[in-house]
Amino acid sequence: MQKAKLGETSIKKLSTCHKDLIKLIRLVEKRVPFDFTVLEGARTIERQKELFDQGKSKIDGVTHLGRHNYTPSHAIDLSPYPIDWGDLRRFMVLGGVVLSCANELGLTVRWGADWDMDGDYRDQNFNDLPHFELRG
Ligand SMILES: [Zn+2]
Repeated sequence: MQKAKLGETSIKKLSTCHKDLIKLIRLVEKRVPFDFTVLEGARTIERQKELFDQGKSKIDGVTHLGRHNYTPSHAIDLSPYPIDWGDLRRFMVLGGVVLSCANELGLTVRWGADWDMDGDYRDQNFNDLPHFELRG
């Protein structure tokens, strides 16, 4: 199995995240069978508003703060690398590994592919496959 490795930019973004997320992603790095990248960790209010305006986030950063807006960030966005938004299977594999590693570390993580965390990936209409956040 090929060993996944995070690039320098990813590691920098990862460092803006909560220590439990860092521990989690370091474990994911050992387990996932392909390269992946950190798209975003901590996010400014301006950036949050921009994503809301583009319809890419349900949180406006003004009336509601999202988990990316915490310092350190309680949310992280990941993508298989190279990034191919049309290849949803790889996102699902990555998500499976993240959930499995979180379970192993005793962390509760919510994934944007399954907001209500019921294991049903078809019962929602706003999917955010790269998004993972710490709960509790
Ligand atoms: Zn996110």
